[in-house]
Amino acid sequence: MSQQKDLYEILGVPRNAEPDVIKKAYRQLAMKFHPDKNPGNKEAENKFKEAAGAYEILSNAEKRAKYDRFGHAAFGQGAGGGAGFQDINDIFSSFGDIFGDIFGESMMGGRSRGGRRRPARGADLRYMLDIDLKDAVDGCENEVKFDSEDNCEPCNGSGGDPKHPPQPCSTCRGSGQIVRAQGFFSMATTCPTCRGEGQIVTHPCKSCHGKGRIHAKRKIKVKVPPGVDNGTRLRLTGEGEGGFYGGPAGDLYVEIRIKEDRRFERRENDLIGRVEVSYLQAILGAEIEVETLKGREFIEIPAGTQPGAMIKLGGKGVPSLRGYARGDMYFEVKVQIPKKLSKREEESLREMAEATGENVQRKAKAFFGSSKKKTNVEPEH
Ligand SMILES: [Zn+2]
Ligand SMILES: [Zn+2]
Repeated sequence: MSQQKDLYEILGVPRNAEPDVIKKAYRQLAMKFHPDKNPGNKEAENKFKEAAGAYEILSNAEKRAKYDRFGHAAFGQGAGGGAGFQDINDIFSSFGDIFGDIFGESMMGGRSRGGRRRPARGADLRYMLDIDLKDAVDGCENEVKFDSEDNCEPCNGSGGDPKHPPQPCSTCRGSGQIVRAQGFFSMATTCPTCRGEGQIVTHPCKSCHGKGRIHAKRKIKVKVPPGVDNGTRLRLTGEGEGGFYGGPAGDLYVEIRIKEDRRFERRENDLIGRVEVSYLQAILGAEIEVETLKGREFIEIPAGTQPGAMIKLGGKGVPSLRGYARGDMYFEVKVQIPKKLSKREEESLREMAEATGENVQRKAKAFFGSSKKKTNVEPEH
């Protein structure tokens, strides 16, 4: 085995160098001897490895102290510039830091490492659609407009100008990963040059400015089937955001919200409205005109209808979404008692009361402030 070089010498720093001086020195060496800049240069590759090994130890206060006291002997049969780890995990965690740190700042512009470009499904979108009760009952077709994102067609999501297709990354030869031999270990790390994408965009696409995605204003027709309720979700397959790199588009979920209707309340598939009748109509019965969702109709108020009675209009409710049944329409009867009677009305009603022997004598008005027991009664006339 050749004689091992002094780690400080490798990095070209004094023995009392501050950690940031060591880091800076390593960064310069790593850039200078980076295999990407020195293709096929065995010597540069060795220097690159050597520097990494030296940095590994000198960037760690504990290891550096050991090295200062015992030299290479502190690490046994060393790898690279003298590193000798017992556990492979030590190397992985240590190397992750080194490359993440060094290249993270100098070559990746501080951006996190991206993944390789694989086809992926676009995102699902949700759209809230407000419709009238009538449209919920009958079904309708609505045009919905929304913002979406799509794969950029001219560059097919690559972000590169179609006339200048992305070039395979020379650092990783298109694999997105670099494998480095460090002594007896081989390690794969995300390629710092292409951030794991395996290719480099040399001329950004003009349509998407290199993003690979474009903003899209979408406008589509949504068919709402009869019978939807508040919260019904309609799924429109493939109408969501565009996929990535040839992946399928996401879905569009249209969620129904039914605007409140002043005339009808919905209970399951029945519709409940109200009808006001006079006391005479309630007593004697009548045919009354009511408003339905499809115009005006007559309903029969039978003689002797009680307040609160429900008059049914069969089959005029909401159809079942599954299509086999339909609810009914009901009108709740409100009986109007007149607050004032004409003289003639009062006379005939009193006559009727007399005939049926009912007591319709009014208690005379009490004076204000009088006690409950003593009531001053005024004569009727
Ligand atoms: Zn690469
Ligand atoms: Zn593009």
